[in-house]
Amino acid sequence: MLYDAAVIGAGPAGITAALYLVRAGAGTALIENSAPGGQILSTAEIENYPGFPHAVKGWELADLFDAHLAEYPVERLRGGVLSVRPAEGRLFHLDLEEGKGLDAKAVIVCSGAQHRKLGIPGEEEFSGRGVSYCAVCDGNFYRGRDVAVVGGGNSALEEALYLSRIVRKVYLIHRRDTFRGAQIFQDKLRAAENVEIVTECVPEEIRGGAAGMESVAVRSRRDGEIRVIAAEGIFIYVGMDPANGFLPEEVRRDPAGFVITDAEMNASIPGLFAAGDIRSKHCRQVCTAVGDGATAAAAALSYLEHWNA
Ligand SMILES: Cc1cc2nc3c(=O)[nH]c(=O)nc-3n(C[C@H](O)[C@H](O)[C@H](O)COP(=O)(O)OP(=O)(O)OC[C@H]3O[C@@H](n4cnc5c(N)ncnc54)[C@H](O)[C@@H]3O)c2cc1C
Repeated sequence: MLYDAAVIGAGPAGITAALYLVRAGAGTALIENSAPGGQILSTAEIENYPGFPHAVKGWELADLFDAHLAEYPVERLRGGVLSVRPAEGRLFHLDLEEGKGLDAKAVIVCSGAQHRKLGIPGEEEFSGRGVSYCAVCDGNFYRGRDVAVVGGGNSALEEALYLSRIVRKVYLIHRRDTFRGAQIFQDKLRAAENVEIVTECVPEEIRGGAAGMESVAVRSRRDGEIRVIAAEGIFIYVGMDPANGFLPEEVRRDPAGFVITDAEMNASIPGLFAAGDIRSKHCRQVCTAVGDGATAAAAALSYLEHWNA
């Protein structure tokens, strides 16, 4: 099957790109390997997306994005893109799971990013039995119990706050003595009675038994001392890695693997665009992903005009 444009990933960037493409009359395929919404599905509340002065739940915003796109004739394909490669006649060929494939004149990569792991003993062993990367998905299992949150950015702070409303106690573990996350979240966390902020400490080992996680051992960066924190859950927010495994090697990326684009979202291969968290950029948020998606679609539409000329 040949499409004008293939959009990879139905997070905020991909849904926006597909919306702009299809409204302009481009034959568009949107390919998603999970549920539409992307990372916002694992976000409790979004307080900084304009238009929602009293915050919006992540899944609600995902549903609204999806319902908006459902008004238009986009071809929705379920499954992972395994590879994208330039093919004959300036086309791109996309290999999909289950031996499927498609061709497109232009491709917009909106595959976002995935949670980075700590890489410490116990993380794999207790995954799903204490170790989690999604407070919204798993927080409720720890109602009335003690948990740890690791990280110092907005995601860690927001999710620590969310958990503090459910669990008995939250230990917020951060390797520095200052946080990157917004001051408003820091103030709320400091005011919460059941939150203990553990700074300048790094998790060394997640410990437990047959029933699951029991504690996390952290090492002080000040004096090397080990403290064992009793917690039945640990929520890890230490950054994101780009979902870029399917891209051709020649696509230019930054040292962390995020795709380098110009201001119009052109990647280093003509006809290939990138939008949202997969891009090399400073601010990774829903509103920047949405803006990137619209910009990429506009650039792809102008590329298609020349393609068809
Ligand atoms: C815990 C947490 C809290 C956050 N809180 C906020 C907040 O309060 N405000 C805010 O503005 N932002 C917040 N963010 C960030 C925001 O969610 C992201 O910036 C935004 O979702 C990025 O959108 P995206 O479309 O670029 O990528 P993503 O949301 O990552 O979506 C990418 C999609 O691509 C799919 N995909 C990946 N690889 C493939 C493949 N090979 N084939 C097919 N599909 C694929 C994925 O399944 C995913 O659905 C938060 C993020 C997290 C994790």
